[in-house]
Amino acid sequence: MGPQLNGKIPSTSSYPEIIQKARDAFQSGRTRDVTFREQQLKKLLRLYEENTDAMIAALAADLRKSKQESVLFEIEFVKNDIKHSLLNLREWVKPEKPPKGIVNLMDEVLIHHDPFGVVLIMGAWNYPLQLALVPVAGAIAAGNCVILKPSEVSEACANLMAELIPKYLDQDCYHVVQGGIPETTELLKERFDYIFYTGSTNVGKIVRAAANEHLTPVTLELGGKSPVYIDDTVNMDIAVRRILWGKCINAGQTCIAPDYILCSKDVEQEIVSRAKQVFREWYGDNWKNSPDFCRIVTDRHFRRLVGFLNNGKIAVGGDTDESERYISPTILVDVKPSDPIMQEEIFGPILPVVNVESPEEAIKFIVNRASPLAFYIFTCNKSVQKMFVNNVRCGSMCINDSVMQFAVDTLPFGGVGNSGMGAYHGVYSYNTFTHKKSCLVKNYNPLGEKIASSRYPPYSDKKTTF
Ligand code: NAD
Repeated sequence: MGPQLNGKIPSTSSYPEIIQKARDAFQSGRTRDVTFREQQLKKLLRLYEENTDAMIAALAADLRKSKQESVLFEIEFVKNDIKHSLLNLREWVKPEKPPKGIVNLMDEVLIHHDPFGVVLIMGAWNYPLQLALVPVAGAIAAGNCVILKPSEVSEACANLMAELIPKYLDQDCYHVVQGGIPETTELLKERFDYIFYTGSTNVGKIVRAAANEHLTPVTLELGGKSPVYIDDTVNMDIAVRRILWGKCINAGQTCIAPDYILCSKDVEQEIVSRAKQVFREWYGDNWKNSPDFCRIVTDRHFRRLVGFLNNGKIAVGGDTDESERYISPTILVDVKPSDPIMQEEIFGPILPVVNVESPEEAIKFIVNRASPLAFYIFTCNKSVQKMFVNNVRCGSMCINDSVMQFAVDTLPFGGVGNSGMGAYHGVYSYNTFTHKKSCLVKNYNPLGEKIASSRYPPYSDKKTTF
C-alpha cells in the first residue's frame, strides 16, 4: 500500500537539511538544559490532552480500534510514561558516583549522562501512536533531538503526528519525516547518532545494516512467536480469559500477543469449550458486529492470515469477510509444528494449539526456535514456574497473565536474539538514549601525587611490587 500522506512528504533531497537543522539545534546545547526537556515533555503531554478525540478518530480510521483500546494502550499508557519521566527526571540526570577503589580515594569518580545527539525513531503501524511517541518522550528526556519516521501503513496516525508535533514541540529539535520504503531507504543512508526501530525482524536487519555504515548504535524492538504454556493447575476460567484477551486486543496485531498455546489434549478441550462462551460474552452472538473487535490493517495482511486457516482444524471461529478485512477470533487444533502457521509470527486473531505432554517438552519446543519477545506461563506449580524462568530465553515473561508485563513502568521492555536488542519504558527509555560518560577528576594534592608517582619512569621491580 503506497502512502497517501496529504502531499506532505518532504522530498528525500531535503533529508540532509532537516537532519542538519536538528544537529545545529543539538549543538546549540539547549536540549542539555533539564528545564527545556521538562517543558517539551509537558508540551507532549498537552498535545495528548488537547487532541484525544483526534487520536481516537485516527486509530479508528487505521485499524477500527475501539475507543477503550485506544485510550488504554495508545493514550493513557503514553501519558503515564511521560508523567513518570517528569516526576523522576531530575533524579535520573544526576551524575552517578560509583564506588571507588583505594587508588582513587582522593579523586572524584563520576558517570555523566550525555545525550547521543540526533536520533532516528521508526515506528510500527499496530500501535502507531504509542510505539512512536513513547520512544520520542524517552529521547527528549535524555536530551536528544529527534527525527520521527512513523509507519506509512497507519496513515491517519502518521498524518496526525506530522500535523501536531510541529505545533507543540520545538521545531528545530523535533521533526517528523513521512514516507514508505523508498523514503526510509534514503533516510537510513544519513548519519544518525542513535536509531530506535520498532517493527519486523527482517526490516530490523536492514536498519542494523544501514546503522553499521556509520557505526550508529541501535535499539531494535522486533517481533516473533510468543508462546503460552498452560497446565491443569490453574483457575481455567480466569486463565482462558487472560490468554484470549491478550490475543484479541487489536485483533491479535500486538507484538507481545500470545502467538500459540502449548498444552495437553485435555487442557486444549477445556480451552476450546470455555473460549466459545467467553467470545459470546465479549462479542455477542454476531462477533463481527461487535464495536470492540478491530480489523486487519491491510488487504495484504488479511490475505496472509486467511492462508493460515486451513492449518490444523478450526475449533472456534474461522469466519472472514474480505470487504471489511474481518477475521473472527479463531482457535486451531491438531496443528503440527511443521505447519506454515508455526513458521512465522501470526500477528492476527488466530490461536493455534500444539499439544505437549510435559513442561520439559514445552521447554524443548520453545528453546529450539527463535527467542520469543514474550512468554506466558499459566501454572500454579511453583517448581514448573521456576523451570521455565531458568530455561527459557525471551524478552519478557509473565506468569498467569498475558501482555500485562508491558504495563509495569518499572520493568524494561524489549526482546532478545531475533526478537530484538535493547529495551525501553520509564527509566529504561532514558538509559537507552543516554551515553554514560566516565569521568575521573584528579587534584594536585602532594600526598596523592607521591603515592601515584610510582607510575613514572624509571621503572623498577620495587615500584611494581604491591
Ligand atoms: P515493518 O518492519 O514492516 O515496518 C516498520 C517500519 O519500517 C516502518 O516505519 C516502515 O516504513 C519501515 N520499513 C518497512 N520496510 C522497510 C524497508 N524495506 N526498508 C526500510 N524501512 C522499511 O513492521 P510492521 O509491519 O509495521 O510491524 C509488524 C512487526 O513489528 C511484527 O513483527 C511485530 O511483532 C513487530 N513489532 C514489535 C514491537 C515491539 O515493541 N517489539 C511492537 C510492534 C510491532
